[in-house]
Amino acid sequence: MEKKEFKAESRRLLEMMVNSIYSQREIFLRELISNASDAIDKMYYKALTDDAIEFNADDFFIKVSFDKEARTIEVKDTGIGMTKEEMETNLGTIAESGSLAFKKDNEIEDGHDIIGQFGVGFYSSFMVAKEVVVETLAHGSDQAYRWTSDGIDGYTIEESDKKKQPGTRITLKLKEAADEDDSFDEFLSEHRLRTIIKKYSDFIRYPIKLDVTKQEPKDDGEEGETVEVVEEQTVNSMVPIWRKNKDELTDEDYENFYQEKRYGFDKPLKHMHLQVDGTIRYHSILYIPESVPFDYYSKEFEKGLELYSSGVLVMENAPELIPDYFSFVKGMVDSEDLSLNISREILQQDRQLKAIAKNIKNKIKNELKTLLKDDREKYVKFFEAFGRPLKYGVYSDFGQNKADLQDLLMFHSSKDKDLVTLKEYVERMPEEQPYIYYATGDSISRIEKLPQTERVLDQGYEILYFTEDVDEFAIKMMMNYDEKEFRSVSSGDLGLEDEDKDDTSEEEQKDHEALFKEMKELLGDKVKDVRTSKRLKSHPVCLTAEGEISIEMEKVLAQMPE
Ligand code: ADP
Ligand code: MG
Repeated sequence: MEKKEFKAESRRLLEMMVNSIYSQREIFLRELISNASDAIDKMYYKALTDDAIEFNADDFFIKVSFDKEARTIEVKDTGIGMTKEEMETNLGTIAESGSLAFKKDNEIEDGHDIIGQFGVGFYSSFMVAKEVVVETLAHGSDQAYRWTSDGIDGYTIEESDKKKQPGTRITLKLKEAADEDDSFDEFLSEHRLRTIIKKYSDFIRYPIKLDVTKQEPKDDGEEGETVEVVEEQTVNSMVPIWRKNKDELTDEDYENFYQEKRYGFDKPLKHMHLQVDGTIRYHSILYIPESVPFDYYSKEFEKGLELYSSGVLVMENAPELIPDYFSFVKGMVDSEDLSLNISREILQQDRQLKAIAKNIKNKIKNELKTLLKDDREKYVKFFEAFGRPLKYGVYSDFGQNKADLQDLLMFHSSKDKDLVTLKEYVERMPEEQPYIYYATGDSISRIEKLPQTERVLDQGYEILYFTEDVDEFAIKMMMNYDEKEFRSVSSGDLGLEDEDKDDTSEEEQKDHEALFKEMKELLGDKVKDVRTSKRLKSHPVCLTAEGEISIEMEKVLAQMPE
């Protein structure tokens, strides 16, 4: 039997790959910068083991520039460079990663900062470039080389005398616009490049420099006369705030990050900084906003956190990280342990992500519990803004969520002007009180006027006031709290003594019968029965529901679309 290797039509493969794995072409810059950072990291690792190499931080940087006339973009680094052989292997073979090999050779374990692993990122340049030129001088070598390719007909390598210092310069010659709306010229802009760098590569550990053109007043010129000056600026923040020591950060630092990231337009009500280093390792900064985002209850609202892998943004919004009932939480997660797929956009498998999500959920829950305990005023403010999703959480999946959420719920009640928790309610229940009572209505003042509340209040029992449509649904799902059942004041059985003992005499009953019959005829389908009741005190009449669905719930259900 003869064994044969697969052959691949490499130019088709390259085209297919490049255009199918990345959702946005702007990421070409992320990939080139990541490679440049890896190249500098390799110098850093070499310096660690070789005393002859000095690693002077100032000498290591990445420079991004563009030429509007020539329509080129350049990414230059002062990293380790490549030999001719390395160029052959790493830039000539798709899916060959010199960086992965470097990590293996040097026994650098997971969790280090070298980003490359798949050996495809470089080719993303061909999404925007019709020609890519790589000029490189390897560390310890005195011959530089130039690699040139149009991404279609292979590549050429020739000697070059342009590079004197070790490092690599990559020049992209941008494609011609296919049509007016699809121009590549957008990238020939200081502003655009800066935005992309900030978005994906803000936390690359080496400076990413960009030339910035500014107008400055002319020295000996007239008032208002200016000259154009070009100044090199470092664009990226380098050290991510989430890797900094918590003790060194102030509330203001966190607020600035919130604003910078546009997590919201308000101020955060609370922030959490998690630095988890156990079986799963991640850093995270989470915020509870102060006010409800304007689109929170609209279809456009998307829950989720930003996801970084070793400091590089891989997903702008990962909804899996946050349960629906905490959908108001904003922020980011950075983990070294994620297994990414080759586009570094979608995750290979979600085991780690699930573990992180679970961890985060518990942290938020505990943080809210602490807030409730230690700063009730703030908690009430929080609950007034975001209590609703919590209640929906109980309603939608109570099996799992009840235990997590029941102690975070608050309601108005007959005893307290402020919101009360279920725990507080139960703790002050008189011993003989059989149920947790509640009444539903559009507003507190309306509930207070309900005839059904009178008898319960007369017994000295507290009533929870449900003013939101989700309240009763959530409570029905919970069924009980601390083994006490919930009971609507409008229900047929309130568990009060002598409630249903009807002491109306037979004669009286007879009297009423005619009246009730008449009333029933008048009301028709609207009522099932008309009868005497003991629960009324100062009101002549009230409505009572039979069975599981209360009158208020019926109203909500009737409003729902079929
Ligand atoms: P990856 O980064 O996942 O390894 P790439 O396709 O982005 O894959 O890059 C392929 C390889 O080319 C890298 O692993 C590295 O060995 C080499 N390379 C790319 N860019 C540079 C650079 N600027 N300096 C040195 N080597 C580089
Ligand atoms: Mg790469």
